[in-house]
Amino acid sequence: MPESLVKLISIISMLPWIWEKSATKLAFFLLNSNQNYLNNFSQNIVELKQNIKKCPSCYGLIDKNKEICDICSWNRNNNLICVVEEYYDMLVIEKSWIFDWIYHILWWAISPINWIFIWDLNFEKLFEKIAKEKNHIEIILATNPNIEWEATTQYILQEIQKRGFKKFVKITRLSRWLSSWYLEYADNITLINSIKERKEI
Ligand SMILES: [Zn+2]
Repeated sequence: MPESLVKLISIISMLPWIWEKSATKLAFFLLNSNQNYLNNFSQNIVELKQNIKKCPSCYGLIDKNKEICDICSWNRNNNLICVVEEYYDMLVIEKSWIFDWIYHILWWAISPINWIFIWDLNFEKLFEKIAKEKNHIEIILATNPNIEWEATTQYILQEIQKRGFKKFVKITRLSRWLSSWYLEYADNITLINSIKERKEI
């Protein structure tokens, strides 16, 4: 097999959810594609990271030439802050079109075993948002049910207490509806119900 093809298969195999057989099929698909498609495809990959940055308010992803994301620029309810782990989780919740809150994306959960510590996550911006409002605020932890999120939740609770926010901050988490699913795999009705029936912690 030509070296270029071997290299391409090897690169594609590094992608998650792709087995070697699928990698080979994809490589042959690309080999048989027209040059314009290949140019466009490779250019998009090259520019992917260069053209994207994080929204300075919620840490969602935006185009580099934008100041702030659409959600943060819309007139949303600042007293409801939905905390999610990934940008993708925010998109899943937004798809339901029924919640008018703002978001805060942490981009991970505390996980010392994976070398992810408190200082690696965007907690400070979250506490800044809370301090700024000084009104009754609800923090909705729309997170996946796992050990990492238990640690993350405990940290948030502890900081809310320590910083004197407890009087005006209520923390809720999704109801049991979602206990065995990750957010991204939940169907719309399950997700909406788990959010509507969220419980205070
Ligand atoms: Zn934003």
